[in-house]
Formats: sequence, C-alpha cells, structure tokens
Amino acid sequence: MQVHSEIGSMRAALAKCRARGESVGVVPTMGYLHAGHLKLVERACAENDMVVVTIFVNPTQFGPNEDLDAYPRDLERDLAQLAAFAGVQVFAPTVAEMYPQPLQTSVDLAPLGQILIGAARPGHFRGVATVVTKLFNIVQPDRAYFGEKDYQQLTVIRRMVADLSSPITIVGVPTVREADGLAMSSRNVRLTPEDRDAAVVLARALDRGEALLRAGAAEPEPVLTAMREIIAAEPRADLASLDIRDAASLDAVTAIDDRPVVILVTARFGDVLLIDQRVAEKARRSQAA
Ligand code: AMP
Repeated sequence: MQVHSEIGSMRAALAKCRARGESVGVVPTMGYLHAGHLKLVERACAENDMVVVTIFVNPTQFGPNEDLDAYPRDLERDLAQLAAFAGVQVFAPTVAEMYPQPLQTSVDLAPLGQILIGAARPGHFRGVATVVTKLFNIVQPDRAYFGEKDYQQLTVIRRMVADLSSPITIVGVPTVREADGLAMSSRNVRLTPEDRDAAVVLARALDRGEALLRAGAAEPEPVLTAMREIIAAEPRADLASLDIRDAASLDAVTAIDDRPVVILVTARFGDVLLIDQRVAEKARRSQAA
C-alpha cells in the first residue's frame, strides 16, 4: 500500500492509474479509523479500480474552543487497518502541505452550511466544503464516499457538487453501529465507560422517533417531545439539538407528508459531542400506514 504525504506524489500515482483507464474513488476521513470508515472503503473498492483514502484532521473545520487538539490520531493503526484492502492508496498530508499559506479562497454554502450544526459551529461547513474541494482537486475522483452519520455534511457536499457542476458522483453510505446501536465514531474512544453506555440513548430515541413517524405522525412536535423525554431520562446526556427536517434540503417541516424526513440529533456526554441521524423514508412510512 502506498502512502503519500505530498500532493505531488499523490498526483503522480493517480496519473499512472488514469493512464491505464482506471476509475478512482476517494474516501475523505480524519483518521482513527473504525468499522464505519472501513464500510466506506469497502464500498469504494467494490465500485472503483483504485481508491484513495485521505487521512487529515482538518484544522479549519474546528472552532477555537473545539476538540482539534484532543481529536484522536494514530496513523500506524490506520494503515494497519487499510492494509487489508488491495488497491487502496493513502493520502495523509501535513497541515503545512494542505495550507502552505493562509487561504484567501473558501467555499461557503448559505443557508445550508449555516443552519443546524452550522449554526452551533460557525465556519465548520466552510472548513469542510473547502478542504473537500481541495481533496477533490488533488484526487479528481470519479466517485466520493461519505457517511450518512454526518448527514448535514453529506447534504452539504451533494449540494456543493451540484452547485459547482463538479463531475463527481457522491455516494452516501448508511451508518455503521456498535452492537447496542451506538453510531461508530472516532470520538467514542474519548467517552468514559459510563458515558459510553449512556450514549446508546441516542439510538434508542431515534428508534422511537422513527417508529412514531412510520406509525403516521402528522407533525414533528409530538415526535420530538417523545424523543426529548427519552434523552432527558438519561442524566449523562446533555441534548444539544434535535430536529426533524426535509431529508433532501434540510428545510424545516411543519407537517409530515409523503416526503422523506431526517431526524438529526446532537448531544454531549462529558465534553464529547456525538451526532446521529435517522431517515424515515416515504415507502417505509406508507407500508406501515
Ligand atoms: P470522519 O473521520 O469522522 O471525518 O469521517 C469520515 C467519513 O466516515 C465521513 O464521511 C463520515 O460520515 C463517515 N463515517 C464516520 N462514522 C461512520 C459510521 N459509523 N458509519 C458510516 N460512516 C461513517
């Protein structure tokens, strides 16, 4: 497996693949890989001749009081996990390689990047959209793979690619969970054992919300109330946000109709902010009705 820390070396390897007519997939990550990331890699390997996994903890998407320094990193461990995948190359640049000078250019989405998590973390999606644009320009992939767990991020990237006419297919991959339902996340290792056990409350609340939607809930509010009660019963959970939005646009919904909606939740356990989501599809709701 080749590991590139420089843009030039990454580009040279990709040029060889393209000369052979190979298709290229990219899986952008911040490393500290787990089975959720590996599901994206597996999918990318199934659909492309060559796959680039990028590992870069991007400082520009962290706010001044966020967990940039505490974010877990272990490149050796990540490389060991990726060794199982033939045809994968890794792009793991330094901050100086990605940002040799202060940026004067950025990619901003409004309102999509400024609502929900974007409202709680000003500048976060500017950092994400800009670094993903840079990674897309470096790798020039045919397809790019993102997890549904970070649902707003996936929506932002889809919209960015559409708005900017990028010739890249964005593939969303369902959330991979621990056996008890907790969404896998690199941040889970920072949870205390007690908070780790408590964090499953998010999946339980989402199960309840989805069940109410599938049973025909006509408005978001009773669903949100039932979910808030479940989360409030777990004293270790500090609910930060809970929303039901149009699954495609993330617009607010006042009445639930046949359009798919997404339930978005963020909560703190200690100083660790976890996020999770659940899409309630039209077909599933109509079957249950
Ligand atoms: P991160 O390293 O957290 O930036 O995540 C890199 C990519 O992996 C993003 O597209 C995430 O949405 C995706 N991802 C993270 N956790 C999971 C999970 N549990 N299931 C599926 N995809 C995930």
